[in-house]
Amino acid sequence: MNIVILLGAPGSGKGTVAGRLASEHDNLRHVSSGDLLRGAVAKGTAAGQEAKGYMDAGKLVPDALIATMIKDVVAETTGDVTMLLDGFPRNVAQAEILAEMGAPVTGAVLLDVADEVIFDRIAGRRTCPKCKAGYHVKNLPPKVEGICDKCGEKLTIRKDDNPETVKDRLVVYHQQTEPLIAYYRERNLLKTVPGVGDLSAIVANVLAVL
Ligand code: ATP
Ligand code: MG
Repeated sequence: MNIVILLGAPGSGKGTVAGRLASEHDNLRHVSSGDLLRGAVAKGTAAGQEAKGYMDAGKLVPDALIATMIKDVVAETTGDVTMLLDGFPRNVAQAEILAEMGAPVTGAVLLDVADEVIFDRIAGRRTCPKCKAGYHVKNLPPKVEGICDKCGEKLTIRKDDNPETVKDRLVVYHQQTEPLIAYYRERNLLKTVPGVGDLSAIVANVLAVL
């Protein structure tokens, strides 16, 4: 197993692109730190209870909390697969933890999207709480309004997708996550893909650099 990290601002399309790639290619797995955490919150586990306040405020949860979850998934994943890691690492300390986990990081793909675009994207975002599929009311609407194409569940708006929290999430991204661009560039692992325009083209461009 090897790992390719997806970097990019909240709403840059990491989950959408990785979800699509994983559904189209048997050897690709999508692992989203946000989905793992929201799953823990929904289940009410101890980790979920600890994480909830940070997530609702748009802050990062403690490194050790999310690192433990990622470690478990990495340990469970074997064979000839590439893990598309979406949302982890989120700061340099987490990148160091990941480097020590054993599985080789063979690339870091930055989905490049300007902040102005992010607000509109997140404002229109709808999420399937069951299968985690993502939609946008204008750019990527489901076939039936408010209903997930894949599993028929009612779509929801994430609690941290309100404009105030999005602003805070972008500040956190620029301060804490953006230094990872230089971190992976220095290690010759960084690939940058424009994250705007036709979704199929973005997906194809990411696949081409994996
Ligand atoms: P996207 O909009 O692409 O889903 P996002 O960063 O806004 O990206 P998630 O990745 O779903 O949203 O993360 C939601 C929240 O979960 C974050 O705001 C943070 O509180 C927490 N979180 C997720 N991954 C990490 C991480 N690696 N370290 C710390 N906190 C994390
Ligand atoms: Mg996501």
